Amino acid sequence: MDESIRGGSPFYVNVFTIFPQMIEGYCSQSILGKARENHYLQVNAHDLREFSVDRHHSVDDTPFGGGPGMVMMPEPVFRAVESTDIIRPLFLLSPGGEVFDQRKAEELAELIDSRGRRGFSLLCGRYEGVDARIEEYLTDGEISIGDYILAGGELAALVIIEAVARLLPGVLGNDESAAEESFSDTLLECAQFTKPFDFRGMAVPEVLRSGNHAKIAEWRKTSALFRTLNKRQDMLEKRGGLSRDELQLLIKYGYLSDSDN
Ligand code: SAH
Repeated sequence: MDESIRGGSPFYVNVFTIFPQMIEGYCSQSILGKARENHYLQVNAHDLREFSVDRHHSVDDTPFGGGPGMVMMPEPVFRAVESTDIIRPLFLLSPGGEVFDQRKAEELAELIDSRGRRGFSLLCGRYEGVDARIEEYLTDGEISIGDYILAGGELAALVIIEAVARLLPGVLGNDESAAEESFSDTLLECAQFTKPFDFRGMAVPEVLRSGNHAKIAEWRKTSALFRTLNKRQDMLEKRGGLSRDELQLLIKYGYLSDSDN
């Protein structure tokens, strides 16, 4: 592990939300909880209601021009962001944003601001979304987690935080496991097995017990190719299909027959 990172400052994520407990709760468990305890990650959830300017702590109002639902007002959001020493970029979670994927997670995990701090900030919308002036004048970009509409940005923020945190040095304990996963090599991960070897007559591929590391690596590569071919042909096409050697491997292990070629 890189000692400068282990001994250095954590990766910061500021989250602006009207439900800070949702962020806090999820981020105190499991991998994220441990990453925070071990100071690899610092997640701060800021309650937008604290920055409201009326005694009812309102953060939303009816839309100009009419129509259903409520819109998040600019004032509490601007005040919250301006009163916090936030780390930029600040991304708005929005179904209209750039769609999040593993490549984007890798990009976010590398972010460093002008003061040398690693991290980024997230703004969670609610209701019908946020006043457009927030998008235009306060945030630096927009991220979506997929083409569907959630009730708020909190789940999206958690998805992003978890995907990024797993990439930070030290967080998984075993730095190799992130590198070997699905998407890191534009292929899905190979099939994985644990004990027992024979479960109700369903046996684990013999090669995995052989102790022959070269053979095991070859089998894993072939399994990854086959799973990708089977489940995510679009990913194979993106990387330019299968090479001749890869086709040979699939045939050698019986995943394809010569006639499929
Ligand atoms: N009226 C809006 C949807 C608002 S959903 C529209 O039609 O586009 C309320 C909030 O949930 C949004 O402001 C955003 O912060 C969050 N949200 C909803 N779907 C999302 C998605 N797919 N990705 C990221 N955030 C999302």
